[in-house]
Amino acid sequence: MMDIIEIENHHTSGLYTKRPLAIVRGQGARLWDSEGREYIDCVGGQGAANIGHANPQVAQAIAEQAQRLISCPEMFYNDRRAAWEERLCQVSGYPRVFLCNSGAEANEAAIKFARLTTGRSEIIAFKRAFHGRTFGALSATWEKKYREPFEPLVPGFIHLTYNDRQALQAAVSERTAAVLVEVVQGEGGVNPASAEFLSVAEQVCRQHGALLIVDEVQTGFGRTGRLFAFQHYDLRPDLVCLAKSIAGGVPMGAVLIGGRIGSLPPQTHGSTFGGNPLACAAALASLNFLLENRLPERAAELGAWFIEQLRGLSSPLIREVRGLGLMVGIELKQKVTPYLQALMSEGVMALPAGLTVMRFLPPLVIEKSDLERVVEAVASVLAKEAAEWTK
Ligand code: PLP
Repeated sequence: MMDIIEIENHHTSGLYTKRPLAIVRGQGARLWDSEGREYIDCVGGQGAANIGHANPQVAQAIAEQAQRLISCPEMFYNDRRAAWEERLCQVSGYPRVFLCNSGAEANEAAIKFARLTTGRSEIIAFKRAFHGRTFGALSATWEKKYREPFEPLVPGFIHLTYNDRQALQAAVSERTAAVLVEVVQGEGGVNPASAEFLSVAEQVCRQHGALLIVDEVQTGFGRTGRLFAFQHYDLRPDLVCLAKSIAGGVPMGAVLIGGRIGSLPPQTHGSTFGGNPLACAAALASLNFLLENRLPERAAELGAWFIEQLRGLSSPLIREVRGLGLMVGIELKQKVTPYLQALMSEGVMALPAGLTVMRFLPPLVIEKSDLERVVEAVASVLAKEAAEWTK
């Protein structure tokens, strides 16, 4: 293990805060490190592993496609891409899709499509939003520590208070190209939007000729208990940004393009790797697995149960438990890093969302018995710490 860590430490960019272990294998919702230690995985590839690790159906699709054709830019048509685009449009009810390679790229594309379509420049985003780290996506992201070192950012971005309907109503105007919103803020602390807020967002956009962009990079592909989180509500976003779990963990991003977007002039946007047959094969196999195994429904049921169990924990350290489906956060009254470390020693991997929220994004194939163990581990870690306090 030391070898792996030393080598990475020697050559890495240094941009990441890493945990001192090397993960070398996964299966379903379990991970193993190089010392053979087993973990219940509630990091879930930061949301990219909804269908579980080492999924045989997806592995086979990738292997077959790798032996047939990996590279095929969109200057040519391709059988896998055609099949994937058709299936994604069919299950989402959207007529068109743009394919790229990450969440940031999906948001970049959606922002550009909104400016192209409306001829306006203003983009309304929200406090605590996270949309990615490229310049357009970063300009829509709220957190100062990500933004400030890189200013000046792209002009035309405004941040309003999330879930504040009045502020939104007052801000959207004939200058607004788009409102960009997460249905549940992920990195910002697992904050679900209210149905009324989302409905107002759609209404004011329609009223003023602006577009509604929903960032489903983290909430998509079954995570919240529906295939897409906007489907919990009577909502019809104009653009939907997807990535993370879209292709079973293989890099891909996508933007679903609604009917209010006109034709996008050729050459105004594009990507070399976008729509490559390898990622398309993985995406198709992954979506088929997700739907055949009713993983969105599973996330809804298990998530409701998990949230209820966590709400039942009577720890003085817990401020609030919140979430939707298997996107779950526990807000503590203090910083979460030591608790995440303690959880890891109990064999449970979880991730932070901001400084004070513990976040759980398990693969949706996780067994209930594993979630029971997660609840026990959380209870034990918080109890130990509370005992330390009262000493
Ligand atoms: N949008 C949301 C809601 C996200 O949670 C993330 C990543 O965490 C992104 C965009 C950026 O995605 P990527 O890291 O693939 O660029």
